Amino acid sequence: MTSHLPGVELHTHLEGSVTPERLIALAEKHGQPALPGSCLNDDGTAYVFDGFMEFLELFHRVTLLVKTPADFHAVALDLGQTLRDDGVGYAEVSLSYGVMLKRGLDPQAIQQVLQEAAHQVFETHGVTLRWLPDAVRQWGLDHAWRAFEEAARAGRQMGVVGFGLGGDEANGPARDFAPLFADVRAEGLGVSIHAGEVPAMGAAAAGDSIRQAVEDCGAQRIGHGIAAAADPLIMALLKARNVFVELCPGSNVCTGALDQLSDHPLQEFLAAGIPCGLNPDDRSLFGLSMQEELRQAREHLELTNEQAEMMNNWGRQAVFDAASRG
Ligand SMILES: [Zn+2]
Repeated sequence: MTSHLPGVELHTHLEGSVTPERLIALAEKHGQPALPGSCLNDDGTAYVFDGFMEFLELFHRVTLLVKTPADFHAVALDLGQTLRDDGVGYAEVSLSYGVMLKRGLDPQAIQQVLQEAAHQVFETHGVTLRWLPDAVRQWGLDHAWRAFEEAARAGRQMGVVGFGLGGDEANGPARDFAPLFADVRAEGLGVSIHAGEVPAMGAAAAGDSIRQAVEDCGAQRIGHGIAAAADPLIMALLKARNVFVELCPGSNVCTGALDQLSDHPLQEFLAAGIPCGLNPDDRSLFGLSMQEELRQAREHLELTNEQAEMMNNWGRQAVFDAASRG
């Protein structure tokens, strides 16, 4: 790690990092000044939504305003400053190449400006940004393959260190993408897959989703993974394969995956010795930060300072950029 800032953030979405101020500016720029009114509270300082379906709708509306390479560049610079203020010195930032392709945007042009922003962020704030393009699972293997080809083309010279899978977990089983992720690994990129996030799909199916991500796709990291805690065999699998779980407790409450923070199985993962860390997920949309995640976990999940330090050290080992590991 080259930064003086200690925090490591491995699960954060660029599209979820659009600040309310940036949303207002983008809406003005693109001739939709009324749009923020349907996304933000009365004084324009925070996003508002009720439940997972409204969140998805909000996410969609926000992403539609991030249109040009200059827009992506501005959002990345904002994120760099936010991370600096949040004590995070290294972040791997997901961005949906799947959505870009669907919208007719050029991932290469966008990746180019994102990497320029990463250089600027490092110079200005001492924060290292690396990029984790992902595909949308419910759009199928062929679409995901196009997203991966773009990611491989951008490659490490553009700061791409891994490839992920997001979207609707109930409608895009990870096993369907096994051949794709064999290629991702052959390309030397890390594999991080959202799995075990949505209890509504049923405990057995959510657990199996994690198993598929690890066994069929070779995921070194799992996003969320909360369903694992209900199945000792899956916990044993994560431990045996040394899979890092990107925990996002605040997000899980915001989306309704958990009723309350105290339901999060953080201590079960720690007791099992499974490497894991805290992450704000969609930090601006949820109004979350790394410091707030830590504070809430101390208050509601009995996180100790020693455990918090151990999780951050695990995070340093789990980064996909080998040059930044350790
Ligand atoms: Zn996520």
